[in-house]
Formats: sequence, C-alpha cells, structure tokens
Amino acid sequence: MSGRDPDAIVVGAGIVGLCVATAVARKGLSVVLVSESRKGEASSAAAGMLAPSVERADGPAHDFAVAARDLYPSYLERLADDVGIRVPLNELGVLQVALTERGMRGLQKAAGPESEWLDRTELTRTEPALGHALGAVVNPGDGAVDNVVLMAALTELAAMLPGIRRLDGSVVSVSQNAASQSVTLRSGESLDAMWVVLAPGAWGSYIRGAPALRVVTPSRGQLVSFEPVGLRHVVYGPRGYVVPRAKGPTIAGSTMENVGFEASTTAQGIAHVRSAAEEIAPALAVSPVASAWAGLRPVTPDMLPLLGQDAERPGLVYACGHSRNGILLAPLTGDVVAAIVSGGTVGHDLAQFRPARF
Ligand SMILES: Cc1cc2nc3c(=O)[nH]c(=O)nc-3n(C[C@H](O)[C@H](O)[C@H](O)COP(=O)(O)OP(=O)(O)OC[C@H]3O[C@@H](n4cnc5c(N)ncnc54)[C@H](O)[C@@H]3O)c2cc1C
Repeated sequence: MSGRDPDAIVVGAGIVGLCVATAVARKGLSVVLVSESRKGEASSAAAGMLAPSVERADGPAHDFAVAARDLYPSYLERLADDVGIRVPLNELGVLQVALTERGMRGLQKAAGPESEWLDRTELTRTEPALGHALGAVVNPGDGAVDNVVLMAALTELAAMLPGIRRLDGSVVSVSQNAASQSVTLRSGESLDAMWVVLAPGAWGSYIRGAPALRVVTPSRGQLVSFEPVGLRHVVYGPRGYVVPRAKGPTIAGSTMENVGFEASTTAQGIAHVRSAAEEIAPALAVSPVASAWAGLRPVTPDMLPLLGQDAERPGLVYACGHSRNGILLAPLTGDVVAAIVSGGTVGHDLAQFRPARF
C-alpha cells in the first residue's frame, strides 16, 4: 500500500455501489469507485418498488427491509439538499388486487399484520381504474421511488463529494496483500486499499478471488411502459405489477427468466407483461405502449443479499446479490457498509445475509 492509496475501492456503480461509495465518503474516507457499464444493468432498468410487505422475507431480513423502506424519506431529503434533485417518492401504500373469489381468500389469509382490506366500493373510490376487482389488500408504508431519477441524483452526488474518484474499468480479480486488499483491472492496472467493497451486480461470478460471489446469477426481467391511466398506487396482481410514476409513464412488470446474460426483450416476454398488466388495470389495454426494456437482477439462491465481511479476509466486503429488492435495500446497504469500514455500529442483524452461507 502506498501513501496515495484510497481507504476503500468500491467495485460497481449501480445503485448499490453508488450508495456505498457516497456513504463511505461521507464518513471522511477516500474512495475509488471502479465500474464498467454493461447492457442489462439492473438499477436503471428496475421498477423502483419499495415493497417489503409484498416481497416479504422472514425474520430479521424482513425487519431490515422495512428499515430500508423507512430510511427513504430522510435519505431523499438529504440527497435533495446536497444535489438539488428531488427524487419522486410514492408513499401511498401498495395494493394487491383480488380478481377472483379464490384470489380474495388467498390474499386475506396471507395479509401481514399491518395491512388492511378494501372492499370493492372502497377500492373503486380509491382507484377508479380498479373498479373491476373484488377488493384489495393495502400495505401502508410501502410504495415506490423513481429509480431513474435516483440514479441521476446519486451519480451527481458521487461526482460532488471530494473523497470519491471514479475510474472506468473492469475488475477481473481481487486478492489480499500483507496489510491491504488489491484489485486488478482488465487493463492490467492494479489498485490497493484497506477495504474493497464488491457491488458488481449480476456479473459478480466473473471476479476471481471472491468466492462468495460464485452463487450470484442473472435473472432477466422485462418491463413495459404505458401512457398513464390515472392510477396513483403501485398495484400487484396475480401475475405482475403496475407502477405509476409521478412524472412519467406507468411501468408494468415483469418476467423472471433464467437466460444467462442475455439482456434483450422478447415478443413473448412483452406479451406476458402486457397481459398481466391489463388484467390488473383493463384501461391499459387501450393505452399506448411507450417503450419496453430488460434488466438483469443479481440473484442469490435464497433471494437475500450477500452483505458483510469475508470470513477469512475482513477487508473484503460483499454488497451484492440484492435480487428483486436492490432499489429498496441500497441506501441502508450503503449505511451498513459505511459503518463496517469506519469502525462504527452496524445496528442491524445481518446473520441471514452472511456472504459464505451457501
Ligand atoms: C426488471 C427489474 C425490475 C426490478 N424491480 C425492482 C423493484 O421494483 N424494487 C427493487 O427494490 N428492486 C427491483 N429490481 C432489482 C434491483 O434493480 C437490483 O437488485 C439492483 O438494481 C441491483 O443493483 P446493483 O448495483 O447490485 O447492480 P447493477 O445495477 O446491475 O450495477 C452493477 C454495476 O457493476 C458493474 N460491474 C459489474 N462487474 C464489474 C466489474 N468486474 N468491474 C467493474 N464494474 C463491474 C456493472 O456494469 C454495473 O454498472 C428490479 C430489477 C429488474 C431487472
């Protein structure tokens, strides 16, 4: 390690790497953020739902997800103060519509303790576009963030913070020296730091020397955007979901496909997403499709992230594999990693996220 080495190297500038790098820099540490752009990056492709009540985990992982959701309002306030970009946040609650008697019984049985049931009359009053449904579970507190605007704001923050230097490049391996961690880029350049944080999304398994990342695989999701049809809430149906953006189109998703790193849309995938969306809000059937795209979720076998220090090399920290909930979990992930590398208190039970659990 030389005197000019940064305190930390963060690999990957998706939402997780950006939240980590900015949180670490705010602790007064210097950071090199190394990333290479790839087709299928998940963070700008995502729908942006903050829905721990619907995408429910067990035990402390659920508590972590709720804490991550509840961090959002203050996190975005601070971001707006720092960079002057107000990121739209929908906090109206997430609806799960029942379209059949059987679906209604299933939803009522599975509903969490904080949720409420809206009958058809109440639902129609709340969301006229859902008047065909039998009712809906409402999950208060859940909602959505505009992840595209959030990515722009975080990119701006990373550029503004004096502790962060960005480097365009692809990391091929990580290793440990006597007192530090080292990363090697495809260009042959290598960098040393006390800490290396790995946030490479779906591509983690390509990085040599980081064994826990071997379990991360890509799961393709296809999304379609429509002209708005007056919906205000995020709505889940039996086969998909619909997310209205405050300023922009309504997004519908999504597929979960095991097709390797292929990140293009398909006619079949788009047809599936459209029909699942039209089932939720029939008005979408006559609303023009604005666009369609796909992204690659970084998925682990239990759909929970790998978050924490390597058991044998504590200077190597994993922040990867956030699966279907990376937008939800990223700001809190950033805070947790910043606490680890600055010697602070993590304050959350990370046992279910142990990187070597597989
Ligand atoms: C269709 C879809 C819908 C989704 N909807 C939601 C949702 O509603 N709510 C939610 O919470 N989550 C959602 N997700 C999941 C969420 O998007 C991901 O969990 C999250 O974006 C992962 O962020 P990341 O930073 O780990 O990965 P990414 O955003 O993929 O970023 C990783 C970055 O690292 C770079 N990189 C990779 N390897 C290297 C390397 N070796 N060297 C240098 N750079 C490298 C990549 O090129 C990329 O830029 C969705 C995902 C998809 C695809």
